[in-house]
Amino acid sequence: MTKAFFIDTTVCTGCRGCQVACKQWHDLPAEETENRGSYQNPSDLSAMTYKLVRMREEEIDGKLRWLFFPDQCRHCLDAPCKGTAMYEEAIYQEPATGAILYTMATRELNAQEIIDSCPYNIPRKGPDGVLAKCDMCIDRVINGQLPACVKTCPTGAMNFGDREEMLQLADRRLGEARKKFPKASLLDPDEVSVIYLVAYDRSHYEVAARARTPEGLTRQAALRKMISPLTRSVAHIG
Ligand code: SF4
Ligand code: SF4
Ligand code: SF4
Repeated sequence: MTKAFFIDTTVCTGCRGCQVACKQWHDLPAEETENRGSYQNPSDLSAMTYKLVRMREEEIDGKLRWLFFPDQCRHCLDAPCKGTAMYEEAIYQEPATGAILYTMATRELNAQEIIDSCPYNIPRKGPDGVLAKCDMCIDRVINGQLPACVKTCPTGAMNFGDREEMLQLADRRLGEARKKFPKASLLDPDEVSVIYLVAYDRSHYEVAARARTPEGLTRQAALRKMISPLTRSVAHIG
């Protein structure tokens, strides 16, 4: 059975334990920080930061709200990045978990094309030309351990397990959240393996809004499949 995350942002405190745990497990360096008038740091995902707790302060319904959003790759069920690459050596789906995994061979791809294909603005190109993002802590998961970010989360915001179990948990928590936040919703649960519960309309969560419509993505993916023999040679520009 494939795996999924359930991330309940309504109980996230913005502690960033998940962000640090991700760096620690992957041996990724810290990034230079600066005061940009926000507690969010660094400012964006990068080839050194696979997990970023995005922070916004917004006035909603007349009250100032803190919005925390622990951002990461969604491990899409029909991943546009994978469909765009059409090169299994570089981007593939691990069958047991459903994780979308990148290899060193991503340096052979047109990086901008892959980045543009992601509806959640996730992949980042490193200085060596390799594309990087969350790998679901696949080395931990195939050995029966939780992803590092989930293991470290102290509030129950981050959850991981069999997809069906996570969907049930998401529905249950959504029901509870709606008592306090009537506009609470799950983001794209039928399309991704990282299911977010958000308290307010998705428009308040900049990075949670899909850049393109699901219909558009489907058409794009279908078109790419149709013309695959023609595009395969130009997709790997070396
Ligand atoms: Fe690929 Fe983006 Fe989906 Fe992750 S979120 S699997 S990078 S399309
Ligand atoms: Fe980082 Fe692993 Fe969590 Fe992905 S699953 S965000 S790689 S700690
Ligand atoms: Fe939120 Fe949990 Fe990450 Fe802390 S560790 S920022 S509570 S998701």
